[in-house]
Amino acid sequence: MPEPLLQVSALRKHFTVRKGFARQSTVVKAVDGLDFTLERGRTLGLVGESGCGKSTTGKLLMRLLEPTGGSIALDGQDVAGLRKAELQSFRRRVQMVFQNPASSLNPRMTVGSAIAAPLVAQRITPPEGVKKRVQSLMDRVGLRPEHSNRFPHEFSGGQRQRIGIARALALEPDVVICDEPVSALDVSVQAQVVNLLKDIQDDTGISYIFIAHDLAVVRHMADDVAVMYLGKIMEQGTRDDIFSNPRHPYTRALLSAVPSVEPGSDGSGRIRLQGDLPSPANPPSGCVFRTRCPAYALLPDEKRALCRDEAPHGAVACHYPEAPLLESAVPSVSLV
Ligand code: SF4
Repeated sequence: MPEPLLQVSALRKHFTVRKGFARQSTVVKAVDGLDFTLERGRTLGLVGESGCGKSTTGKLLMRLLEPTGGSIALDGQDVAGLRKAELQSFRRRVQMVFQNPASSLNPRMTVGSAIAAPLVAQRITPPEGVKKRVQSLMDRVGLRPEHSNRFPHEFSGGQRQRIGIARALALEPDVVICDEPVSALDVSVQAQVVNLLKDIQDDTGISYIFIAHDLAVVRHMADDVAVMYLGKIMEQGTRDDIFSNPRHPYTRALLSAVPSVEPGSDGSGRIRLQGDLPSPANPPSGCVFRTRCPAYALLPDEKRALCRDEAPHGAVACHYPEAPLLESAVPSVSLV
């Protein structure tokens, strides 16, 4: 079997947070033991509630944060040990598209200069070829040549995201980490940007990590999906596995919280999650989803003991994936 493009093993990021003037410190386990792979030409969707650790994972993959433990390998090479020249090559191969393109673009830089910046910094394209390359990138993402001399504030949100995508593609990366790339855009524009990313993938064979809280967008975009909760992966599989046959109680609850588009559906039969996301500084023992799990509430006490005492592992991180779920009344899960 060919080596995966990206292999993430037991990846952890723990932050030590000091409380006020007290000397006490708390460890926040933002990412706590992730295992996943990204194959060439595929898209892995990382999905979960706000605060589940998906954006921290994106920053770890970009090496914008140093992991506390575990490893990230690109083409079999552990990126933790990269020295200066190798790190520069890694940065060329792994690029990022941000949620808010406005904040990632310098307001005083023209669009042409912003797209050219990585080409100039990495000295891959000869100076006389930069302008042509910028024009071809702008054309690829649907911007017109005359846009090159304009400033970011002159563009709509969707156009600014196109600029962000052009800049991310400038160095012909193998992987682009898309961190909520469409969540700040109007719904009609979201589809255009998602379709653009898919077209680029079809043309170039590029791979994406697609971080999102919107399950409908992930379903449209991803080949494989990993569902995160409190720094851990609850369930992962192909898109069809996750959307047609979800097994983990969390995935089942998330999917039931997505408004049904079926004609005649009144939303009844929806499973709702009780309570707030626990603090990653003080996660529940055993299964971290235990305090909100709609299956746990119905389990007999002797089975609950396993959920309390032992963290489940595997592609479906649940001791009782097929257990019936409790339908309750308050309050529904919010992924925003
Ligand atoms: Fe729920 Fe137990 Fe499964 Fe955790 S291990 S998701 S608490 S049934």
